[in-house]
Amino acid sequence: MTDAAVPVTQSAVEEFTERYLRSIGSQIEIQGNKWEVKIPEDAETGLPTGNLSLICDTVEESDGNSTQLHPESSFFQEVLKDAASRAPLGSVTINASNTDIIVPDWLYESEISVSNIEFSPYYDRRALAVLFQVGIETVSEYQREFLRGIVVDTRSKEILPKLDRTFLNLTNPSNPTITSHEIETEPEQIEQLVDSCRDPLVEDIQTEVDDIHREASRAADAELEEYRQLQQQHEKELAERLSRLQSQIEELNATINESDQRKRVESLKERRECKSEFEEIESELTKLRQRREQGYPQKQREIRDRHALEVVVTPITVTEIKYERGDIEFELVGADASKTITVAYGSGVGVTDEIYCELCTNTLSAERPLGSLQGGLRCVDCV
Ligand SMILES: [Zn+2]
Repeated sequence: MTDAAVPVTQSAVEEFTERYLRSIGSQIEIQGNKWEVKIPEDAETGLPTGNLSLICDTVEESDGNSTQLHPESSFFQEVLKDAASRAPLGSVTINASNTDIIVPDWLYESEISVSNIEFSPYYDRRALAVLFQVGIETVSEYQREFLRGIVVDTRSKEILPKLDRTFLNLTNPSNPTITSHEIETEPEQIEQLVDSCRDPLVEDIQTEVDDIHREASRAADAELEEYRQLQQQHEKELAERLSRLQSQIEELNATINESDQRKRVESLKERRECKSEFEEIESELTKLRQRREQGYPQKQREIRDRHALEVVVTPITVTEIKYERGDIEFELVGADASKTITVAYGSGVGVTDEIYCELCTNTLSAERPLGSLQGGLRCVDCV
C-alpha cells in the first residue's frame, strides 16, 4: 500500500460509527467494547431509532440482544449506507496548537540531533478529507467492501497522506482539541475535488483489486475446466453412438441384400431412420469438435463476464480541513558541525519540500536519511 490512503480498521470503524451516531443526535454510553446507543425518535436517519446495544468486535455467537460492530458487520454497512445518503459535510481546523510537529523521515531516521524546531505559519490552506466506501464485486461471488480515506488540497489538488493520519487521529471523538469552522469550499468545487480523488484512490487499491481478480480468474478457470471435461465426455458418448449406428447400418445393408420383399421394405425404412440419426449426431459431433479446437470461445466469454470485477467507490463523508502552511526551522547538531535549515511545512501535513543530498543529489528519505552536516547536507551514503 502506498501512503495515499489509510485502511479502515476496527478502530477506524468504531470512530466513524461513534462520530456518525453522535452527528445524528444519538447518545452513546461506552463500557469497554459494549456500547449502549440511543438514537432519538426524531433523528433524520434511515437507521432504526430507539435503544441499541452494540458489541465492538467479532464474536463467535451473539447473545441475540446485541448487534455486532466491525468492518464487515451488517450494522456498519447500514451506517455507511445511511451516511452516504446524507453525505454529511464536516469541518475541522488543524493548527500548530492542536498537532504535534511532524519530523520528516529523513531526519527522524538520522543520527543528527535536533536542538530546536520553530514553525512560522504564513497562511491558511484548505483540504478536503474524503472517506470512500470501496466495493469490489463480481456478478457471481467475491464481494469485498472496505473504507479508504484520502485528503486533497483544495488549491493545488495534491494528495496529502500525512494530513490524512493527523485527521483520523484528531477526529477521534474523544479528542477534545478538535475545533470546527464555517465551510468555505463551494459545493461545485467539492464535487470536482471528490471526483479528482477517485483515480489516486483506485490506483492505491490496485493490489487488492489484483488479488481479488486473481481469485476470480482461478474460479473462472476451474469452471471452464469443468465445462471442458463435460463437453469431452459428451463428445465421447456421441462418438460411441455413431459407431453403434454405423454397425447397425452395415447389418441392415446385409439384411436388405439377402431378405425377401417384405423384410427388405422394413429394413430399408429402418436404415433410412438410422442414416438420418447418424447424420444428425455426426453434425453435432463436428460442432463439438470445432468448439473444442477453438477453446469454447462463447463459454469462455460467458464465464469471464460472470467473474469480471466491478470496483465501485462511493464518497461517504467529506470534511473540510483548514490547515496552516509556512516555514519550519530545524536547528541541527551533528558530530562535527551544526546547521539551521528552513523548509516549507504544513500543520498536520509535515515538510512539503523534497530535500536533496548536496553531494550525490539523491532525495533524502527514511531509507537514505541525513548522514552529516559537514560541507552541506549529506546523505548517509556520502558520509
Ligand atoms: Zn548523498
